[in-house]
Amino acid sequence: MAELPGWYDNDIDRVIVSADDIRAKTEELAKQVAADYAQADSVLLVCVLKGAVMFMADFARALGRFGPPAELEFMAVSSYGQGTTSSGVVRILKDLDRDIAGKHVIVVEDIVDSGLTLSWLLKYLQSRSAASVDVVALLRKPEAVKVTVPVKYVGFDIPSEFVVGYGLDYAERYRDMPYVGVLKPEVYQR
Ligand code: 5GP
Repeated sequence: MAELPGWYDNDIDRVIVSADDIRAKTEELAKQVAADYAQADSVLLVCVLKGAVMFMADFARALGRFGPPAELEFMAVSSYGQGTTSSGVVRILKDLDRDIAGKHVIVVEDIVDSGLTLSWLLKYLQSRSAASVDVVALLRKPEAVKVTVPVKYVGFDIPSEFVVGYGLDYAERYRDMPYVGVLKPEVYQR
């Protein structure tokens, strides 16, 4: 599908994952999850704000076509500041609204980089007595894994570079891009 140029296109050095590829992969991941959870009454999708919000919205709609009914929950944790490297420090900014005991929880993640945030989150969800906890991540940076985290469903393995778009920001911008890309170096000098 041809896309009209957006304001952000001038700032992008190159595209890492196109909007079409995201669409196709999201459907593929939803089909896999639906098959694996075919016996479940329902699943509870946990989105980690803000980066995973686009993927959550698209993944939940795709899962709705193939899988069991889903409940949607949102959490916000901080691990990155305004910069581009992981601090490893996780703080809950917004907790779950409801009890997750006995639920089949699927964490919907934008990107797994060091895996520090996710590894902390999985322990936290397990401590809240979820029946099961799985992870679906749109993107993964394989070289950067410092902590071994079980990510069952992965969309794309990407290089160890700072990416923006489709929910991912640089200083709160570029989340509204429909694709994932790398910024031109001069953007960081502004
Ligand atoms: P981790 O704890 O795995 O190092 O990082 C987790 C979070 O850091 C991700 O959920 C995401 O919000 C942010 N992050 C990691 N890599 C990138 C990146 O390349 N670009 C952006 N914008 N955020 C990232």
